[in-house]
Amino acid sequence: MAFDGKLAVVTGAAGFIGSHLTDRLIAGGCTVVGLDNLSNGRRANLEAAERSGRFTFHEVDVADIDAISPLFAGADWVFHLAALADIVPSIERPLHYHHSNVNGTVSVLEAARRAGVKRLVYAASSSCYGLATQFPTPETAAIAPAYPYALTKWIGESSVLHWGKVYGLPVVSLRLFNVYGPRARTSGTYGAVFGVFLAQKLAGKPFTVVGDGSQTRDFTFVGDVVEAFVAAADSQADGEVFNVGSGGTYPINRLVELLGGPVTHVPKRPGEPDCTFADTSRIREALGWAPRVSFEQGVRVMLDHIEDWREAPVWDKAGIADATQAWFRYLKD
Ligand code: UDP
Repeated sequence: MAFDGKLAVVTGAAGFIGSHLTDRLIAGGCTVVGLDNLSNGRRANLEAAERSGRFTFHEVDVADIDAISPLFAGADWVFHLAALADIVPSIERPLHYHHSNVNGTVSVLEAARRAGVKRLVYAASSSCYGLATQFPTPETAAIAPAYPYALTKWIGESSVLHWGKVYGLPVVSLRLFNVYGPRARTSGTYGAVFGVFLAQKLAGKPFTVVGDGSQTRDFTFVGDVVEAFVAAADSQADGEVFNVGSGGTYPINRLVELLGGPVTHVPKRPGEPDCTFADTSRIREALGWAPRVSFEQGVRVMLDHIEDWREAPVWDKAGIADATQAWFRYLKD
């Protein structure tokens, strides 16, 4: 798809998914205005974008409406990906998450509305389904956020749909399932299994498999996710919610097998789903989008980029027990 001459705002542009999306939009002919407060994002993720001559970067808190409003002038599309991620810190600092993920989203919606943008696409989270009971899980499944990160992303989605309804802002919300790929976070908090395992592999340490490793996740490759954002923006979809998943669900033990290495086990966390698996029929039908990268291909790409995790923290059983205390204290099955 090419979108010559379009002006796009990407919030969270320096982050994992935001930086890939920025690259894709620029490759498609867009000019991109990138916003990020660099709390998780890395400026280095934007090296290619900065070289393109069609990218400007603004270090800014998206909840600051006065600061961001002027940056939306003339934008055709807004992609709102700026958010705080991860479960445990959201339990420890709920206000912080509310500020970024709820106030930030409302502020972006207002800026988009005032600028009269043509479409806003929101990065929602499959964590809104909590412990789902139906697999694959359709968009109509019950909403049951189990921790503040999930709650704030869900309030963000509700706000997006509300701005669509009340103010006529054309919006699409994409519920992303376990996105992975190069540039996935390499530092800081314990979380996101790929980063944990790749750092362990580099250090020659065992993979810390949660429970018996038979739990499955709908691991979705970032390139496929980026295409879903682009397809949503370049469509007539309005006020719609779509799951974005890989079309399958893969046991942690299969990931271990593909990565190769010794294993140790850590206790299963309360409230952890045994399975996440998106029903993607809605987005396939409405947007003609389909995932293209198989799990095996995606894992190979991660192994090709394993050096990116050379400086990442190497988690072990004791470190994980310490880092997940709040999880065991507050979450229940
Ligand atoms: N996982 C694991 N070892 C780890 C971290 C995660 O086996 O050190 C598993 C975890 O049980 C889950 C999957 O990997 O089944 C994905 O975990 P992640 O935190 O990436 O995502 P989420 O649990 O939020 O889907």
